Amino acid sequence: MTTPQWVESWAPEEGATRVQDLFALAFEAGSAPGVWSAPGRVNLIGEHTDYNAGLCLPTALPHRTYVALRPREDDLVRLTSAQAEGVWETRLSDVGPGTTSGWGAYVAGVAWALAEAGYKVSGFEAAVDSCVPFGAGLSSSAALEAAFAVALDEVHGLGLAATDEGRAVLVDVCRRAENEIAGAPTGGLDQSASLRCGEGHALLLDFRPGLPAAESARPVPFDLASAGLTLLVVDTRAEHSHATGEYGTRRASCEEATDRLGVASLREIVDLEQALAALEPHDADGVLRKRVRHVVTEIERTAQFADLVRDGGVEQAGPLMVASHESLRDDYEVSCRELDLVVSAALDAGALGARMTGGGFGGSAIALVRLPDVGRVAQAVADAFAEAGLRAPLFLDAPPSAPAG
Ligand code: ADP
Ligand code: MG
Repeated sequence: MTTPQWVESWAPEEGATRVQDLFALAFEAGSAPGVWSAPGRVNLIGEHTDYNAGLCLPTALPHRTYVALRPREDDLVRLTSAQAEGVWETRLSDVGPGTTSGWGAYVAGVAWALAEAGYKVSGFEAAVDSCVPFGAGLSSSAALEAAFAVALDEVHGLGLAATDEGRAVLVDVCRRAENEIAGAPTGGLDQSASLRCGEGHALLLDFRPGLPAAESARPVPFDLASAGLTLLVVDTRAEHSHATGEYGTRRASCEEATDRLGVASLREIVDLEQALAALEPHDADGVLRKRVRHVVTEIERTAQFADLVRDGGVEQAGPLMVASHESLRDDYEVSCRELDLVVSAALDAGALGARMTGGGFGGSAIALVRLPDVGRVAQAVADAFAEAGLRAPLFLDAPPSAPAG
């Protein structure tokens, strides 16, 4: 028996104190005028669908990244983080695609992308601390970007964070920061979740281009507790260095399929069998068809999951989660031994459903669990990891929480 280890979230006051203390330690002369924070996220279902104009259904975690920030008159940016060494510095005039590296690229990228969108911002000093697990598929990167987006929005009086429409603009700013400055080609799910999710709600995201803000993200009441359920998040702590490269090849396969099929995105496929037949002559090893089958069926499962949640039938959603995992494992081929082990151990211990979440190749998995079973399921997963000789996983309790603010 190994004792399951839990990652606790911080109360807002604790997060604020931590970053104010860090700020005072790192930067001479006084305190920061404010503290902002943004959550990590967990995706209930809808994986690798955001860059295919599809559907996703994330919630915000209670685990947040906190930022104490003070604007400067000039364009110098100086950053410190409890999760990184030293002080990271740049001039905003030096920031651009290909010129900025290190963790500060996610932050300077936000200022750069705001300027690109017509919102000029000055330099700043800032201290960061976070209880969002790093590189665990729970979007510490989007939490970092979103916390700075709302901080810069407020100190410059931009007013974007005040409305959902404005937040949709900030989503795009953060996504550009991550894609173009940090150089990570992610699709927008993470930033939307961190900036637009609501407490007690899941967010049904629709990535078809050109939709009005209100249709691109619809809150869905998600009250697991009153259904006697909870969502258990398991960070496998599996590190897979090839994740970024594999993500790129999956995206390339989707683009190849859309080119062959003459559609703008895989979302436009109405008849899956017909699309698969059309791809066959160009797909000797069957890989392209597997990728397309995952994306099309995953979008359908996400719509069904959202309907169940809306109609108060979330306890029936387990099989959709399992089907999603199998599709990601067998057709999209982005799972790994640790993720599969969480899913099988959780289901064996009585979870209603379980699946990998996030991009894959490590990171985290989720299980839908009846409240009285949480301890037993966590124990079963911890034991399975110990028996397999794997590093102990981490567990998070994940009630749907508040967005960046
Ligand atoms: P994930 O978003 O799944 O946690 P990513 O690889 O996308 O993983 O993002 C992790 C990277 O984001 C880190 O390597 C670091 O560069 C940056 N980052 C996130 N949070 C912080 C933080 N609190 N302090 C410093 N850097 C951070
Ligand atoms: Mg990330």
